[in-house]
Amino acid sequence: MNDLFRQAKWQRERELIEPTVFELSQGRSEGYYRFSIEKEMLDAVGDVQKLIPSKLRREELNLPNLSEPEVVRHFSRLAEMNYGVDSGPYWLGSCTMKYNPKINERIAASPKVRRLHPYQPEETVQGALKIMYELGEMLGKITGLRHWTFQTSAGAHGEYLGCSIIRAYQLDRGEKQRDEMLIPLSAHGSNFASAAMAGFKVIKIPVDSRGCTDMGALRAAAGERTAGMMITNPNTLGIFEEDILEIADLVHNAGGLLYYDGANLNALLGRVLLSAMGVDVAHLNLHKTFSTPHGTGGPGAGAVLVRDGLEDFLPVPVLRERDGRYYFDYNVPKSVGRIKAFYGNFEVLVKAWAYLKALGSTGLREVSGIAVLNANYAFTKIKGIREVSVIYGEDRPRKHEFVISLKEARSKIEAPALHVAKRLLDYGLHPPTIYFPPVVEEAFMMEPTETDSKEEIDHYIEVMRKILEEELEENPKTVLEAPHNSSIDRLDEVRAAREPILSWKIYERYYKGNKT
Ligand SMILES: *Cc1c(COP(=O)(O)O)cnc(C)c1O
Repeated sequence: MNDLFRQAKWQRERELIEPTVFELSQGRSEGYYRFSIEKEMLDAVGDVQKLIPSKLRREELNLPNLSEPEVVRHFSRLAEMNYGVDSGPYWLGSCTMKYNPKINERIAASPKVRRLHPYQPEETVQGALKIMYELGEMLGKITGLRHWTFQTSAGAHGEYLGCSIIRAYQLDRGEKQRDEMLIPLSAHGSNFASAAMAGFKVIKIPVDSRGCTDMGALRAAAGERTAGMMITNPNTLGIFEEDILEIADLVHNAGGLLYYDGANLNALLGRVLLSAMGVDVAHLNLHKTFSTPHGTGGPGAGAVLVRDGLEDFLPVPVLRERDGRYYFDYNVPKSVGRIKAFYGNFEVLVKAWAYLKALGSTGLREVSGIAVLNANYAFTKIKGIREVSVIYGEDRPRKHEFVISLKEARSKIEAPALHVAKRLLDYGLHPPTIYFPPVVEEAFMMEPTETDSKEEIDHYIEVMRKILEEELEENPKTVLEAPHNSSIDRLDEVRAAREPILSWKIYERYYKGNKT
């Protein structure tokens, strides 16, 4: 560890600029709701409290005493401390943080959508079922996989379901011994966890210098115990797995199914059918590509799609249509069962439906075209910056995202990816995904998406150049101690995740030491 690193104030005291509503109202006895109550009036009426039997009397609630404008300003200040897709560039690789059209939010927030209840009889929700059905049909056209479920509410949830379907398929064929899932190291991290949770033994396949699945290793690994393979394509290096057809053949010939992690479909929309790549089961993150932002832990939808012949394994109920009427079919012979209550996060489905209806097939092709162009433009420029290196497939084009390594900057500072990411905040830019994928040291995984303009992309590139070529050279301490301009500096991220402070009581306990 170098000296500068040690000097950097790694974890400063918590210094929230904005106090909580309770701190704001300390020592105050009146909020807006009491403004016009004069003591005189109270005296005239007498103590009405006394008329209420003591055991029914409510104790004084610990509510903040603030006026309406004070509360509005408090929450506006908090909102301004946040950084979102609506604030500026958000190149969080693998998360596709593109701008999501507001019209889709408005449609999803319409009372016709909001006031539905999952227990309503089917006849009264035909419009909602139609939206789901049409969305399924559209995604079927985009992928070539015609059977689907929207129950799963995240990508990883979809992977788990996909693995369960693969296991059910193998058991149905009497292939009990197939307990291995092949996963290349360029797959998304959640794949390994999902396969393990579904009870498979994970066989990791290395990546070759092209940044693609090592075919020799795959050939050696596929066999009688192979239940399937999970592939992310474009993979997490942003590179298209060019041997995909051979991979599909290999897995199928070994008796396995090919699972496709389609969380990031932004590069392929309207251009490639998953079915033509030999895919059997796939999930798509509607909360990335299709108009719901990823991240924030909000509601999502990891739509799972399967090819003909696997539809009987889908979770119940399956939405069907007959003579223009939509209904849920619970009679699915080999179904893996339910994976979630009800039918998924409906408002996310509505947004995806509205997004697809608005864009149409021409619009979708434009999305993927511009997303890939933006990523390659940024990649070409950024790899020319000093301290930036490319570990895999340097000269190959990228799809929707690209990964660079900042390991050369280690001669200047320790953990450069972390510190440079923090420094980007000072320039009003959200940092990219860092230290992922793990096959790249000091990784910066960047995804400009189709919604950033050339000016914004150029600005991002220029800031990267300034930090890496000028600041690290002239004043590395600025980078090490970043961020300087944000409301909060470095957080204890582990503690924030393990002990999130989401209520006043917890805040009091941890920060004020009031063990109440
Ligand atoms: C985001 C992502 C996932 C996981 O999706 P969640 O909704 O976060 O569970 C899986 N695979 C890839 C390639 C992803 O980018």
